[in-house]
Amino acid sequence: MLLESPDTITDRLVRVEVMLLERKIPAPGIEQLGVSGDPFRVLISTILSLRTRDRVMEEASKRLFSMAPDLDRLARLSEGQIQEAIYPVGFYRTKARTIKQIAKSLLEKHNGLVPSRLPELLSLPGVGLKTANLVLSAGFGGAALCVDIHVHRILNRWGSLKTGSADETFRTLDGVLPPAIKSRVNPLLVSFGQALCLPLSPRCSVCAFEKDCPKEGVLHRR
Ligand code: SF4
Repeated sequence: MLLESPDTITDRLVRVEVMLLERKIPAPGIEQLGVSGDPFRVLISTILSLRTRDRVMEEASKRLFSMAPDLDRLARLSEGQIQEAIYPVGFYRTKARTIKQIAKSLLEKHNGLVPSRLPELLSLPGVGLKTANLVLSAGFGGAALCVDIHVHRILNRWGSLKTGSADETFRTLDGVLPPAIKSRVNPLLVSFGQALCLPLSPRCSVCAFEKDCPKEGVLHRR
C-alpha cells in the first residue's frame, strides 16, 4: 500500500543524493565496476552480486570477463571454468550453472543479444524482477525501477509504503514514480542502505532523516 505521494518520495531521494555527495559515500558495486551501458556485463555481474559483497562480486566479474569478454567466449567456457573464475562469490556452483544456461539461452533464443524488454529478460534462467530491471536501467539506460532488499527496507522505514516483499514494493511504485527518477532509486538507496540505513542497526543519529523518519520496523538503532 502506498502511503506517501510520489512527490514526497522523490524529495526524499533527492535528500539521499545530497547526503551521499556530502559524505562522499561511493556508488554501489555495479556502478563502480564500469559496466553501465553494457547489458551483457550488467546481467552477468548482477547474477554474481546476489548474496555477495560488492568487492567479491567486482573481483569475480573482472576475472570472468578477462576470460570471456563476450557472449561467444562465455558460452565456450565449461561450468567448471566459470566456477573457478567466480569463486568465492556466494552460491558459485549454482551461479556458474545459471550463467552457462543464460549464455545458451541468449545464443539459441535471442540471436546472441541480451533482450531489452522485461518479459524476455524474465524468461532467462535465474533472472527475476530485480535483475531484469537492473539490466534495463544500468544496461540499456531505460527508466526501469529496480527494487532490491535495500530499496524495499528503506521505503518501508520511511513509511512511504507498507509492503511485505521487494516484488510488492516494485508493483506498488512502478506505475506511480516519475520515469526520470526510476533508474536512480536503486543506486541511491543501495549506497544509502550500505552506509547509513543499515539492515540491523541503522545509523539514525547521523542521518539527515533523523527528525522526520518514523523508523518503521527499526528495533535497534545507533
Ligand atoms: S533515520 Fe534511521 S531508519 Fe530513518 S532513514 Fe535514517 S538511518 Fe534509516
